[in-house]
Amino acid sequence: MTSQEPSANFYLAGEIGEKASRRGGGVRWICPAFNWGMFRVPIIYRRNRKAGGYILRFKQACLFATIPRGGSQREAFAFIQRSQPWIERQLAKKSEPQTDIWFRGQKVPIAQFGTPHVARYLRAISITELIPRVRQLAAQTNSQITRISIRNQRTRWGSCSTRRAINLNWRLIQTPPHVVDYIILHELMHLRQMNHSEEFWREVENVCPTWRESELWLKRHGREIISANPSAA
Ligand SMILES: [Zn+2]
Repeated sequence: MTSQEPSANFYLAGEIGEKASRRGGGVRWICPAFNWGMFRVPIIYRRNRKAGGYILRFKQACLFATIPRGGSQREAFAFIQRSQPWIERQLAKKSEPQTDIWFRGQKVPIAQFGTPHVARYLRAISITELIPRVRQLAAQTNSQITRISIRNQRTRWGSCSTRRAINLNWRLIQTPPHVVDYIILHELMHLRQMNHSEEFWREVENVCPTWRESELWLKRHGREIISANPSAA
């Protein structure tokens, strides 16, 4: 197997915790995912004894690689590398017309997502990113929480319950990281003050001194994000 040099908008990358290593001059990437543009496309390997060979298929935002009887993940990966031109064509085909979409506080061409299911994809990303962030900020602020849910809310960015559950709108992934942190901290401070009293805002100010900047960002762009496509996921 000869490794291919990654092209500008398609390169295979390791997950966090894994290393890309160089061998024999070529770049060899150990990978359960690859990056297309600025987006990560997870690779899901599955075995099928009846398969006549390696098969690649896109489903939602993932690349499914079928490994036939006697095959290996290593060979499947080599197959993925050889299939790079095909993969690029598939991703381009699946892309929607050129519209921009908010992602992490920046307008990004929708084609970059490489999937027609952008909302679903964003929601999946939000689950993997927002939940750990809530846990982190809850620990940092000594906040006891019971449950975190990512929801498809139409009117709010976050909420919390008297049972100490935190609910977040998946669209937060479309806002900048400082807004994400602010909304999470806002909800965590509601666990101390279930209102918007001066005391509440003092708590917010304490843990998130830049909250005004985030509020301003939401005032400017929040409505657009909530009301725009991608809508329901
Ligand atoms: Zn509030």
